[in-house]
Amino acid sequence: MLLGGKTAVISGAASPRGIGLATARRFAAEGARVAILDIDGAAAEAAAGTLGTTDGGPHLGVFCDVADPASCSKAVSAVIEAFERIDILINNAGITQPVKFLEITPADWERIQDVNLKGVLFLSQAVIPHMRKRRSGAIACMSSVSAQRGGGIFGGPHYSAAKAGVLGLAKAMAREFGPDGIRVNCVTPGLIGTDITAGKLTDAMKESILAGIPLGRLGEADDVAGIYTFLASDLSAYVTGAVIDVNGGMLIH
Ligand code: NAD
Repeated sequence: MLLGGKTAVISGAASPRGIGLATARRFAAEGARVAILDIDGAAAEAAAGTLGTTDGGPHLGVFCDVADPASCSKAVSAVIEAFERIDILINNAGITQPVKFLEITPADWERIQDVNLKGVLFLSQAVIPHMRKRRSGAIACMSSVSAQRGGGIFGGPHYSAAKAGVLGLAKAMAREFGPDGIRVNCVTPGLIGTDITAGKLTDAMKESILAGIPLGRLGEADDVAGIYTFLASDLSAYVTGAVIDVNGGMLIH
C-alpha cells in the first residue's frame, strides 16, 4: 500500500461526487488514516464514516472553514489530538462562480480569493509547524487549468486569479520548507465531473469543451485522486514545487 501508516488531512472532501472525497477513499484504500475537513461539518463526519477503518483507528470528519485562520487552527488541533501527527495535507477546498470580468463585485472577489487562495495559506499555516517538528511532510494544493489558460472553461477571472495565486504560493512554500523535509506541489485539473458547477454547465458548453480534449472525455474525480496519491506518497519523494496537469490534453504546453 502506498500510504500505509500515514495520516492525511484533506480539505473540501465532504461533497459526495467531489474530488476531495474520491481522494479520501483512495488514500484510505492505500492504508492512510484520513481527516476530512469541510465547511459542512455534518457532511464531513458522514463522509468519514463511509471510509471504513484503519489499523490506526477511525477516520475523522471535522468542521473547518479554510477561509478562517481560527477555524483552521481549531480543526488541526482536533486532528493532532486524534492522530498525533499529520504526514499529508491536501489543500483541496474551493468554490467557483461563472461570471464575466466586468460583473465581478468586491464581495465576489473577496469570497473567491478567501476560499481558494487564502484557504491554502491558513490551513497550511496551521499544519506546517507540526510537519516541521518531525522534519517530514507532503502537501498538495489544488490549482486549475483555469490559472494556466486564463479561464474560459467555467469559473470567472477572479477564480483564474485565485488559482494562479495558488501556483505562486505553493512554489514559494516548496522553496521555504524543502530544507525541513516538506514537499509542496500543485495539481491543475481540466474540467472534472463534480457538483462544483452546480448544474450550470449546459450540454452545449460540455460539447464545445470536449472538442478541445484529445483524450475525448471530461475528467473524473478519481483521475485527480490518483495524482494526489502520487504526490502524497514516496513515489514522488524527489518532487517539489511541481505542477501536474490532469486535463486530458486540454492544455499541452
Ligand atoms: P465540490 O464542490 O464537489 O467540492 C468542494 C468542497 O469544498 C465541498 O465539499 C465544499 O463543502 C467545500 N468547501 C467550500 N468552501 C469551503 C470552505 N470555506 N472551507 C472548507 N471547505 C469548503 O467541487 P470539486 O470539483 O470536487 O472541487 C474541489 C477542488 O477542485 C476545488 O478547489 C476546485 O476549485 C478544484 N477544481 C475543480 C475542477 C472541476 O472541474 N471540478 C477543475 C479544477 C479545479
